[in-house]
Order: sequence, then structure tokens, then C-alpha cells
Amino acid sequence: MRVNRYNYPSQFPNGIGTLISDMEQMILKGNYILTEEVAAFERAFAQYLNTAFAKGVNSGTDALAVTFAALGLQPGEEVITQANTFNGTVAAILMVGATPVLVDADEHSYLMDVEQIESVITSRTRAIVPVHLYGKPTPMEPILSIASKYGLFVVEDAAQAHGAKWNGRAVGSFGVAGCFSFHPSKNLAAAGDGGIIVTSDEKLARAIDEVRSFGQRGQNNHVRPGFNSKLDALQARVLQEKLPHLDGWNQERRRIADEYRDRLGGLPLVFQVQTKGEEHVYHLFQIRTSQRDALLQHLVSTGVDAVIRYPQPIHLQASFARFAWRAGQFPQAEALSKELLCLPLRPDLTESEISYVCNSVRDFFATSVMRYGPADVTHSINAPKIECAMPECADAHLD
Ligand SMILES: *Cc1c(COP(=O)(O)O)cnc(C)c1O
Repeated sequence: MRVNRYNYPSQFPNGIGTLISDMEQMILKGNYILTEEVAAFERAFAQYLNTAFAKGVNSGTDALAVTFAALGLQPGEEVITQANTFNGTVAAILMVGATPVLVDADEHSYLMDVEQIESVITSRTRAIVPVHLYGKPTPMEPILSIASKYGLFVVEDAAQAHGAKWNGRAVGSFGVAGCFSFHPSKNLAAAGDGGIIVTSDEKLARAIDEVRSFGQRGQNNHVRPGFNSKLDALQARVLQEKLPHLDGWNQERRRIADEYRDRLGGLPLVFQVQTKGEEHVYHLFQIRTSQRDALLQHLVSTGVDAVIRYPQPIHLQASFARFAWRAGQFPQAEALSKELLCLPLRPDLTESEISYVCNSVRDFFATSVMRYGPADVTHSINAPKIECAMPECADAHLD
């Protein structure tokens, strides 16, 4: 048996016929950029999150970069985010010439360690970017209160958390802006790259309109530095087709996560902590073990499409060497990068697939106790490192 992470046909429960014929008409009409289809999806997404505006862009990374530019961030100014996020969060900070400043992850939630934020604020700090990592909403009140104390912007990286709620309110709607990705791996997926920014700040929304179109205010009137980054009309049509299903899919993701937790209970595994007031959307379902690499190899060899998200924390990535971060500087992020792996979780995962995955994990621990002795659940890293040669490991940086 193979248990895959994605099943795209299941994302079109009404079939694909109407969508294709609409796209055919759009292509033949020749009206491609920021069309009515884009505006309609932007309205629908803003309404879904209960924000005043939504502005479609090329990708989740661009959503962050366009927001930073629209907020007027300047080279040399600093943006605080977490060491255990996806590369794109930090790449976006660099796209506007700003300087990323990291805090460590919280050991249990894997979210930003809020306790560390104030210690890294300087006179150059302009923004805090919490990441609702793996679909888990970040508790926003402490971050908003630090931001208001120091006069900083909060820009939420909600690329993994479409529809997640904190105390009943959608993530992305707490900060001055919320940034989402429609990369094909995400809970709401385009048929290619795409992203969107939500905000209820009208001035910021107008600035985003300019920045995503060459800094234009009306054609050929270039009033500020800009990008060319717009949500493609065909992608907007695909997303419009899927949006009505998102809440149901997220519901299924939560149900399957509960199943995983129940059925894997009693094993020497740790799960991302559950927090009162959250509505997690389980973009990724993480299990944590000091025998991670051996478990990954076992799962992959039994046909389970498990992957590591992410194998290298930001501060140890070669692309950010110029910041001279050191190994050991963000110990929680480093431990997570060595001990987490994601089990396949799709909304349409079947009962037999869930059982197969859980049995494969159980089989591993049944035999690994003989091989290694009982696993250390307090997170010290004592398992032998086994390199994974499967293609699934090679693409580990893709999403
Ligand atoms: C996917 C992702 C991004 C980037 O989104 P793209 O659409 O791939 O550019 C940014 N931040 C996080 C946390 C992500 O998961």
C-alpha cells in the first residue's frame, strides 16, 4: 500500500468540467490580469476571513514582501520572526532590504517564543511576523500588546493556516495584515503559485494595490517602488471553485489528527501541544521522536509518504550565512528540525490509510525498542543518524 500526501482529484468534489469550460472562455476572451474573477475571489476570501480587503499576489512569499513594501519598510530596518519557519518568511524580509531578527520556537507549541520578543527589539525594529506554523494559530494577544507598546506592525504569516481560528477569530485578521499562500501543498491550493494579503486598513490596501502593480497609481503614474505580483486570473477561478469546501476539509483534517493522536497514544512520541481557544487546521501533522530519521526511513520504505518540515532551521541555512547566526543559538528550533516528522494528512485520507500509517509507526517502535532500547521522550537526540535516500527526502524544501 502507498499512502500519499496529496490527492488533487478529491479537491474537485463537483468534477472539473465547469471549471475547465470557464477557463477556456477566459483564455479565449484575452482578459487576463486583475480580472473580475480575481476581484470576485478577493471579495470571497476577505468575507471568509472577515476582513475588509483581500489583495491577490503571485505567492505567499510575495504576499509578505508586498506587505512589507506597502508598509514602507526600509533597508536596515528590522523584522522579528521565528527560527523554525519556512525559508520564504525570511526571503520576503530580504526582498525589501530589511534585516531579519530571529527568536526561538516554543518547545511545546512550535510557535514563536513570545517571551523572547522584547529582548530583541531595537530602535530599528518595525514589525513582528508570527507564523501560524503547521496550521496552529498563534495566541495573538501577547504579541499584539508588545507591538502596541513599541509601535510595531504585526504581519501574520498565515501561509499554512487558512481558516484557523484563535478565540473564534480567523488568523490573518489580527495583525495589520495577514499573508496566505496558495502553493499546491497548502490547505487551499491553486493549480500553481498564488498568494493573498488580507487587511482591514484601507490605506494599506491602497498601498498594496500600488506595490503589486509597479508602484502605479493609475496607468503610467509610478508613485513608489513596486513589484509586479498579481494573483493570476485562472488561479483565482480555481481557488473560487475550492473555497466553499475549505471549512469542511479543515474539519476533516482535525478529525484525522484526533484519530492519529488516539491511535498513536502510548508510543514514545510527542505531539504539537493542543491549546484552549484554538481551531487548528493541521496543514501538517507532526510527530516528535528522538528516533526521527530511523522512523522516517521505516515509513518511507513501507510506502507512507512521510516528510520532514523543516530539516534545517533558518539560522543554519546557507542562504542566510551573511547574518552570522551560530549553531546552538536557537536550540528549540534545532531540536525540532532533528526530531519532527509529518505523517500524511489529507482531508480525504481513508480509514484504511489511517490504520496503515498507524500500524507502520507502531511496527517501528515494536522493533526499535529491541534495536535501540526505549526512546527518550525528553527530546535528547540519541538515535543513530540514518540518511534517507528516497526522493521524498530530496524535495523536503519544496513546501
Ligand atoms: C508556503 C509558505 C510560505 C511561502 O509561500 P509560497 O506561496 O510558497 O511563496 C511562507 N511562509 C510559510 C510558513 C509557508 O509555509
